[in-house]
Amino acid sequence: MAQDLYCWRCDRVVPMLTEPEWERMAPALDEAVAEVQRYRVSTASSLQTALARPHGRGALKLYYRMTGQLETKPDAIRHHRLSLYGPPCAHCGKPLRTPRASHCAACGAMRAEAAVE
Ligand SMILES: [Zn+2]
Ligand SMILES: [Zn+2]
Repeated sequence: MAQDLYCWRCDRVVPMLTEPEWERMAPALDEAVAEVQRYRVSTASSLQTALARPHGRGALKLYYRMTGQLETKPDAIRHHRLSLYGPPCAHCGKPLRTPRASHCAACGAMRAEAAVE
């Protein structure tokens, strides 16, 4: 099951995908990129134009089925992966920005279980 977690880039709580979910999502995201590339080739348009068009519907639908959350940009799903983030900060509860972060970027608290590795 996806886990609700604060996302640093979106600045809101979003459902983050677990690894088994991510394994199913990755091909759909690859397909979203392929769609954009096909559009660019067939219309000789810029990347910006191609990205502005609706794309990655498969990935968005899959994300909705997994999380019940409507997302409009496949690019946002790309970083909604649980394993990209660290454990929640013991002080403020926001996830550490990376699995190896030594302190919390939100409140500055040092990581509780420091020296795990
Ligand atoms: Zn996000
Ligand atoms: Zn914190």
